[in-house]
Amino acid sequence: MHNDISEILFTEEQIADRVSEIGAAITRDYADAADEGIVLISVLRGAAIFMADLARQIELPCEMDYMAISSYGNGAKSSGVVRILKDLSSEIEGRHVVIAEDILDSGLTLTYLLKNLASRRPASLEVATLLRKKTLAQAKIDCKYIGFECPDEFIVGYGLDFAERYRNLPYIGILKPEVY
Ligand code: 5GP
Ligand code: MG
Ligand code: MG
Repeated sequence: MHNDISEILFTEEQIADRVSEIGAAITRDYADAADEGIVLISVLRGAAIFMADLARQIELPCEMDYMAISSYGNGAKSSGVVRILKDLSSEIEGRHVVIAEDILDSGLTLTYLLKNLASRRPASLEVATLLRKKTLAQAKIDCKYIGFECPDEFIVGYGLDFAERYRNLPYIGILKPEVY
């Protein structure tokens, strides 16, 4: 285990099993759309690893597109001020869209994103989040696919960073508070 991690929450094996279950659920839920398939959208950069693994567990035509948004700074808390740094490369009007998110904390980022994407009139719009924090301040977001509930600590690994580090840890863990 990395020295800056106080506890491993989910191992590489647990993550792989859960991602495979979510992929199977998506495959079932969109079976009627097997001709046109779905569009997976990942929110860079944290959700990129999750989406790459998830896509390989979905047995449907599956386009992949990317958006980069920023709530300002490198810090540990979401500011709620969201800016689009990179927009989608393709149109999503009339498409079945699944957003892959890394972690849902206050929900401010996703609230903004859902509103923005809904205005482009997709045929359907759902969220697959790898992690959801149990916080009181949680905005009410309908998340169809949730990987794991996690404690209200600062989490890193499997795509999640602190100041751009730790994304490449194969497991998900709690960052020691003295590191940030
Ligand atoms: P929200 O807008 O839901 O409060 O925050 C969403 C974004 O903040 C996440 O997509 C993620 O980029 C970042 N974030 C929130 N909590 C954590 C955390 O515990 N660890 C890391 N690495 N990022 C987090
Ligand atoms: Mg994110
Ligand atoms: Mg980050």
